[in-house]
Amino acid sequence: MLQRPFNFSAGPAVLPEQVLRQVADEMLDWHDSGMSVMEMSHRGREFISIYEAAERDLRELLQVPEQFRILFMQGGGLGENAIVPMNLSRGGKVDVLVSGSWSKKSAQEAKRYANVQVVASTQPDADGRTALPAPGSWQCRADASYLHICSNETIDGVEFHELPDLQALGSDIPLVIDCSSHVLSRPINWSRVGLAFAGAQKNIGPAGVTLVFVREDLLGQAMAICPSAFDYKTVAEAQSMFNTPPTFGIYVAGLVFQWLKHFSYAGKTGIAAIEQRNIDKAELVYQALDASEFFSNRVAAACRSRMNIPFYLRDERLNQAFLDGARERHLLQLKGHKSVGGMRASIYNAMPLEGVQALVAYLKDFEAQHG
Ligand SMILES: *Cc1c(COP(=O)(O)O)cnc(C)c1O
Repeated sequence: MLQRPFNFSAGPAVLPEQVLRQVADEMLDWHDSGMSVMEMSHRGREFISIYEAAERDLRELLQVPEQFRILFMQGGGLGENAIVPMNLSRGGKVDVLVSGSWSKKSAQEAKRYANVQVVASTQPDADGRTALPAPGSWQCRADASYLHICSNETIDGVEFHELPDLQALGSDIPLVIDCSSHVLSRPINWSRVGLAFAGAQKNIGPAGVTLVFVREDLLGQAMAICPSAFDYKTVAEAQSMFNTPPTFGIYVAGLVFQWLKHFSYAGKTGIAAIEQRNIDKAELVYQALDASEFFSNRVAAACRSRMNIPFYLRDERLNQAFLDGARERHLLQLKGHKSVGGMRASIYNAMPLEGVQALVAYLKDFEAQHG
């Protein structure tokens, strides 16, 4: 069988090959049902079994406590930027930490529904690298409805390696995290979280599914203008079936959860295994960038993303040559986001170690040729 190219897209992004093959095998007839999953009633016993297995596996993988409801919604990450304030702000105050493009967008959208304050923003450190401000320095309001952070900034390559502990800072407001681009890449410390959301198309499955993990005490406060289909309480009470959920996406996500449950690496299994491989993969790329005179990453070591690694060529006139050469080596979609330029290697869960090794070899060869 031909090897597939390595796909470094930021999203929609690479999926485990094994999952894609299973989807292909089951496309016309799922488990002798005579139907494709796309053709099933979302209320029929076949799909309900798919849904329940997906939810159970996800809860187990991320050790989601009982007091959190898991919702499979639509609307994507940007949809949640409106859905969260409509559900949690009560039209009052919302605090946002701006660590890059996505949290900036979240702050802007929340302004349509609430009084928004930016509590702090990323700053260059002494070496001119992007750094997260220490949580102790954030200007949080005691009467805010919640504090929003983006725990991994997909465009800027900035990740919270540890979630802020608001209680330790003397605050009891809920923390909302947009974990779209690193959900399932590592465990989540639920004791620090009130709500987490994630679009599926980075680390989970096809675009169209949005996961929401919401603590039960936060349900039932939606503003009157909130559409019923986006009221977390309504969605939770209907087990995500208030309206037709994105059935095919949920099915593929369920297969990815199964793949993760059985994933093993370095003597570990499941999330611990994928986290270890993610650490190792990211280290390989950052080491290569740091050792180079020709390529650079501009994020402080303490908050470098394990999933999305933006980097720049010293001579930006060579950008197109770099991308063309990458394509010849079957390394796809390395172009950086248009707002920041340069390159970006997204190395989500499904990117094998071999893909990262091939990228690192290419970086060295390109530098030897052009550096
Ligand atoms: C991709 C992404 C989004 C946007 O998701 P859409 O599904 O396009 O609305 C939001 N937040 C983060 C962190 C992302 O990476």
